[in-house]
Amino acid sequence: MIRVWDRLDYVFQITPSLGQTRLRRLSMRIAEVYESIQGEGFLTGTKSVFVRASGCNLRCWYCDTPYASWHPEGEDRPVDELAAQIEAFGCRHVVVTGGEPMLFAEMLPLCQRLRDLDKHITIETAGTLDLPVQCDLMSISPKTSSSRPSPEKNARWAERHERTRHVPEVIRQLIDRYEYQFKFVIDRREDCVDMELYLQEFPEIDRGRVMLMPQGTEVDLLAAKAVWLEPYCEAHGLRFCPRRQIEWFGSRRGT
Ligand code: SF4
Repeated sequence: MIRVWDRLDYVFQITPSLGQTRLRRLSMRIAEVYESIQGEGFLTGTKSVFVRASGCNLRCWYCDTPYASWHPEGEDRPVDELAAQIEAFGCRHVVVTGGEPMLFAEMLPLCQRLRDLDKHITIETAGTLDLPVQCDLMSISPKTSSSRPSPEKNARWAERHERTRHVPEVIRQLIDRYEYQFKFVIDRREDCVDMELYLQEFPEIDRGRVMLMPQGTEVDLLAAKAVWLEPYCEAHGLRFCPRRQIEWFGSRRGT
């Protein structure tokens, strides 16, 4: 099948083998759309509309949004309808997250529409897929080896996750084209070794844009990891990234 972009909301689908051409309305699967306050990264504290794409090419064992990865929920939403819903919040900042939003070619017209509406666009991605989207802040969360799901419980996803979680050419493209921040999810001290090896592979990454975020969805667990992770960041010229949304709202959907 060949997809030919025509206008913002529609694509022509051409299937040469069948001699068919049809017009299809653009839509992407969305788990939720809500307004809240950004709890992580450079824009912590900023009121934002969150658009959560449903579907992911990875399967981290600790995924805190399984309804957008392991068990994707939601409906296919037309891009024009989605843009109208976002606009109705009247909020300048929009965070397109997931799951993995860069899985969807519909991100191209959606982000173009958001740009036309003068929105500030943050895209949260694991950095394994590239699209030439409009974006003001590419928030990249690389997945280190400890994110792999259990091979005993899910051999197929464990193999696929390990094979696809690191795509250096995509990382180089993203940091070359966009303002960026890196958020590494740190579960245990050994993850810091993985993270440093990663940064050695990409000397062009500005360490001032690298944040280490404790893994977890409970305040006590996050606080326990912060005890050693925050000093590590200070000692190594990196930023500590609290998960403020957990402190503010707990681990709840729609926040
Ligand atoms: S990349 Fe993100 S959304 Fe996908 S499984 Fe990992 S933590 Fe979940």
